[in-house]
Amino acid sequence: MADDTAPPVGATLHLPTDRIRRFVADNDPPTPCLVVDLAIVAERYQALSDSLTEAAIFYAVKANPAPEILRLLVELGSCFDVASVGEIEACLRAGAQPSTISYGNTIKKRKDIAYAHEMGVRMFAFDSAQELDKLNAEAPGSTVFCRILTAGEGADWPLSRKFGCEPLMAVDLLRDAAQRGHRVGASFHVGSQQRHPNQWDGPLAEVAAMFRMLERDGVTPAVVNLGGGFPSRYSDVVPEIGAYGKAIRNSVARHLGPLMNGPDRPLLIAEPGRYLVGDAGVLFSEVVLVSRKSDLDERRWVYLDVGMFSGLAETMDEAIRYRIRTPHDGSESGPVVLAGPTCDSVDILYDKADYHLPMALRPGDVVEILSTGAYTTTYSTVGFNGFPPLKSYCV
Ligand SMILES: *Cc1c(COP(=O)(O)O)cnc(C)c1O
Repeated sequence: MADDTAPPVGATLHLPTDRIRRFVADNDPPTPCLVVDLAIVAERYQALSDSLTEAAIFYAVKANPAPEILRLLVELGSCFDVASVGEIEACLRAGAQPSTISYGNTIKKRKDIAYAHEMGVRMFAFDSAQELDKLNAEAPGSTVFCRILTAGEGADWPLSRKFGCEPLMAVDLLRDAAQRGHRVGASFHVGSQQRHPNQWDGPLAEVAAMFRMLERDGVTPAVVNLGGGFPSRYSDVVPEIGAYGKAIRNSVARHLGPLMNGPDRPLLIAEPGRYLVGDAGVLFSEVVLVSRKSDLDERRWVYLDVGMFSGLAETMDEAIRYRIRTPHDGSESGPVVLAGPTCDSVDILYDKADYHLPMALRPGDVVEILSTGAYTTTYSTVGFNGFPPLKSYCV
């Protein structure tokens, strides 16, 4: 069971880990590069399993699809949430059974659904009658779950509005889906980097109300999909994973209690992405230039060899605020604007977020951008301005 007195997520984790430090010391890889410690991924998988014992874990592959990570998670018994044919193939190459793959994107081409079904994938998400039509035609006899809208409150990277439909519409669609011979369920996502463990409560109450309506019509729900949202450790402290497990377990019991204790208890699913891999990675980047825009300017501009276009896309609107280490930490520091190396003026990482870095910082210094294992490598462009995609290593 979860230890509710455990420290906040990442509080006891010292990045870079010894394994990452040793890899960099031995190999001196060119910057920018991401180094992921697989032992942290394994620890996180275990911690989440321990905190949410009732739930099956479906890793959201988009967070970091490195083959080493997928192979490790196959070994640990994880299932997978995918969004495309490419991610299905990556999971199969890593040794995943098709029956452990859930096609969680609500926006799929017909031919991609057909391909997934042919490969043996039997779980699919949808949030509209039009997408359900495609599933009826191309994925007969599957488990289909309807995603409902959420507000995304309390999340640093909300996933609201684009995905999901109103619960009443979802009930109608699920009734239709059941009549077409599918097993049915409901899903939602409370927003990525969700700071508040109680944010699962509202959607779970809505799912429970939906399920009561379905049961009145003789439909037995088969899946409750809790989505992702479990956090990594960025600038601000976030609650420890046990607090999420406890809050979710309480909400499940409160709203779905009788159903969860009955003979037809639905399968509970969690789809962590960021939580499993974010804190496992450190991005090493070289300082290219430190300058000022005027002699009176108190703030320096620090330009790194990594930016918005080479992996740090989640700094958009300064939403995700990474912790940064430098070789001069502890010495006098001053305010900075942090920017990337490309010739695009949106390539600014932090302006309003009030970052401070040592006055001694110089070109050639290597800085460590912590907790960058999620949503970085695949967000890197293929070569904007001739800068190559972000290299990554797993140790
Ligand atoms: C991105 C995504 C996830 C993972 O979200 P995290 O906040 O990284 O945990 C889970 N489920 C779905 C459907 C997603 O699109």
